[in-house]
Amino acid sequence: MTTTGEQWKQIEADYYMQVVNRMPMVLDHAEGTCVYDTDGKRYLDFTAGWAVLNVGHSHPAVTAAIVEQAGKILQMSNLFYTIPQLKLAQILIDNSVMDRVFFCNSGAEANEGVTKLARKYGKVKKNGAYEIITANNSFHGRTMGMMAATGQAHYQDNWRPLAPGYVNVDYDDIDAIKSATNDKTCAVMLEPVQGEGGVNVPSPDYFKQVRAWCDENDLVLIADEVQTGMGRLGTLFGYEQFGFEPDAISMAKGLGAGAPLGAFLCKQEYAVLEPGDHGSTFGGNALTTAAGWAGAKVVVDENWSEKGAETGAYLKGQLTGLMEKYDFITEVRGMGMLLAIQMSEDNAGAVIGETVANGLLLNAVRPNMIRFMPPLTTSIEEVDEAVGILDAALAKVFGA
Ligand SMILES: *Cc1c(COP(=O)(O)O)cnc(C)c1O
Repeated sequence: MTTTGEQWKQIEADYYMQVVNRMPMVLDHAEGTCVYDTDGKRYLDFTAGWAVLNVGHSHPAVTAAIVEQAGKILQMSNLFYTIPQLKLAQILIDNSVMDRVFFCNSGAEANEGVTKLARKYGKVKKNGAYEIITANNSFHGRTMGMMAATGQAHYQDNWRPLAPGYVNVDYDDIDAIKSATNDKTCAVMLEPVQGEGGVNVPSPDYFKQVRAWCDENDLVLIADEVQTGMGRLGTLFGYEQFGFEPDAISMAKGLGAGAPLGAFLCKQEYAVLEPGDHGSTFGGNALTTAAGWAGAKVVVDENWSEKGAETGAYLKGQLTGLMEKYDFITEVRGMGMLLAIQMSEDNAGAVIGETVANGLLLNAVRPNMIRFMPPLTTSIEEVDEAVGILDAALAKVFGA
């Protein structure tokens, strides 16, 4: 007998750590922008595995790379050369302003690594400087270190004392960075656009000012591109949208095209890690980097950054249309395929409950905010269908 969706949900309730309130359905398979539950019901996935599936679910090139690699070699220690990680390294370096890469397994781990790099730079080049400035409403991950970097009380308060050496200041405020800088500061770490913090786009000159300040004070400027990288904002990397070059970046989410893969990259001048300084058993694993290489190749060769941005601009236009129709939508914001609407009431959960029932997956990034992060490969027809479902859900929940 096959296990039903209801039975799977009971198993979750009995066995799993209850750290998330799940959506009501059990998912079974997926393709492109769509996922299907155990009853065969179809959903448009505008969460894309959490801004991960930039070329969509089960892209044939990614599936083929995984199948082929699984039959060759899955895992070796990084003591040995394996090929997929080298192919992916080449694509990333050839298409960025970075010179060197280290692979790991997640966004939090990428940020742990890149902040270790910054601390080492402070140690050897800046007289032991170790403080790292990050932003309020940022999100850098949930490890002991990255909770201190993440400037949001609800990710920090239950786990104090936090790791020392992180200073949280307001985002999009160059003066806040200036006043937090002292002779112990070694780095500034910022998201090009804050994702989990509510899709916050900084002013156009913010990063140029941060770049100038970091140059003046010899601070490592780290861009956390975990969410914005791999084409999400309309260019392969988010920093390209703001006309500056970071010294180091972290990546994950879209990098593995669905396989758990993270990385941090730096310019040659900041490549201070030496043998023994850092490592990871699974980092650069042959299977995950084969998937990442296949996904990255599709994004780069088929120019999905730009094509996704065109679809994103269309979606933003449709959302702006809804804002004109409903005065309870107070703002539409974001870039490329990372967008959000803000509402006058804390109804995001109720609206999404309604869209999910009607076949559209979305994220309540804040109680009054809905985030859109569909695959870059989403079609205009799929956008129209999603906006139609959202429109009906808004009308129902707000009684409009
Ligand atoms: C998701 C995210 C992280 C954490 O990534 P995990 O893979 O969940 O550890 C870090 N930084 C940013 C900007 C993110 O969006």
